[in-house]
Amino acid sequence: MDSTAPSRAQSEVAELLSELIRIDTTNTGDTATSAGERAAAEWVAGKLDEVGIDSVIHESERGRASLVARIPGADRSRPALLVHGHLDVVPADPAEWSVHPFSGEERDGYVWGRGAVDMKDMDAMVLALVRDWARTGVQPPRDVVLAFVADEEAGGKLGARWLVDEHPDLFADCSEAISEVGGFSITVRDDLRLYLVQTAEKGLAWMRLTAGGRPGHGSFVHDDNAVTRLCQAVARIGASRLPTVLTPPMRQFLAAVEDAYGIEIDPDAPEEALARLGSISRMIGAALRNTANPTMLQAGYKANVIPGTASATVDGRFLHGQEEEFERQLASLVGEGVQREWIVHDQAVETTFDGPLVDLMVEALKAEDAGARPVPFTMSGGTDAKSFQRLGMRCFGFSPLRLPADLDFASLFHGIDERVPVESLQFGVRVLDRFLRSV
Ligand SMILES: [Zn+2]
Repeated sequence: MDSTAPSRAQSEVAELLSELIRIDTTNTGDTATSAGERAAAEWVAGKLDEVGIDSVIHESERGRASLVARIPGADRSRPALLVHGHLDVVPADPAEWSVHPFSGEERDGYVWGRGAVDMKDMDAMVLALVRDWARTGVQPPRDVVLAFVADEEAGGKLGARWLVDEHPDLFADCSEAISEVGGFSITVRDDLRLYLVQTAEKGLAWMRLTAGGRPGHGSFVHDDNAVTRLCQAVARIGASRLPTVLTPPMRQFLAAVEDAYGIEIDPDAPEEALARLGSISRMIGAALRNTANPTMLQAGYKANVIPGTASATVDGRFLHGQEEEFERQLASLVGEGVQREWIVHDQAVETTFDGPLVDLMVEALKAEDAGARPVPFTMSGGTDAKSFQRLGMRCFGFSPLRLPADLDFASLFHGIDERVPVESLQFGVRVLDRFLRSV
């Protein structure tokens, strides 16, 4: 394998990432001000076209562009593998950054900029690899479908979800998919790194609470105040800690942590043990239970007028299999006299950490890092996997990166000074090469 290591891919992956970061694809949630996705999709199309790979750009709304390409495999009777990545990024304020967030600057061994880990890094790794393959005549064992999509950061309605609804034929034969968020390492010690492969993600339940009451003059004695009623419900939700629920991937993950660190984890209070994992424990800890966090409040218009209604927004997330239980938990927290309606509701996603595809991920990681121990984990947030899973695919977060032990990876997502080590990108290219050659 080493004699065929994708050398050109490794040497161009950082430059590809820099170029892609320089195309500002900020997703504001509003098409009128989300300009860059079309330019990014055209740039990807150009990079594929240079090496003879055809692609098609699909637009859901003007400028909201997603690109799909198919690399024919050796055995076309087998189901295809989908490799998807989003092209959009969340906003970044240059005033807060050490480098301009859309400079794509390479400095101190890192590529800096918005999207460096979420998730133009994976986009660039995949692009570098398939370009190398096309130049050297490498063919994957089965069809690989590439999708570089718009709008993930606003829920995918104009990207992955739209493609799945409007062009399901493009993915009809895809049995599995890889994308964010997973495949990155946590260093236990010099010769042992956990690689977290995402096999599950929580469901989404954003809701609006509305309380009613009797409007009136703010100077009167008043016992039917919408603001008071709403705030009581909001405070109960915000102060609550819903019970720990260990889903299958979380049990496997905790077992691996116990083994790696030689500790025993109390299943009723796993947080303490998870703290060892550093900042990533915030992401992982959120997958121990359903959560509900109040995020917005709206009521009233004048200091001396008691309004007739008051409303709040709550960001709720539920584990796979916990949807009904979560509704019961909410109903008891919200209480009487407050209405609840969903603003956004999307299902949880979960698959098992087994089968030939998982074996190949594990083998590819171990071949490039002798200290690798791959483990499944549950993402607290949502990704485009929610959309693609609807077509019956098993979805994995597998964007391999071997990271420096001291890098605070979790805080780079949507964070200030988002950056990725060039060496990690090159590692990712090698792992993806081994993996995709053998799928
Ligand atoms: Zn992302």
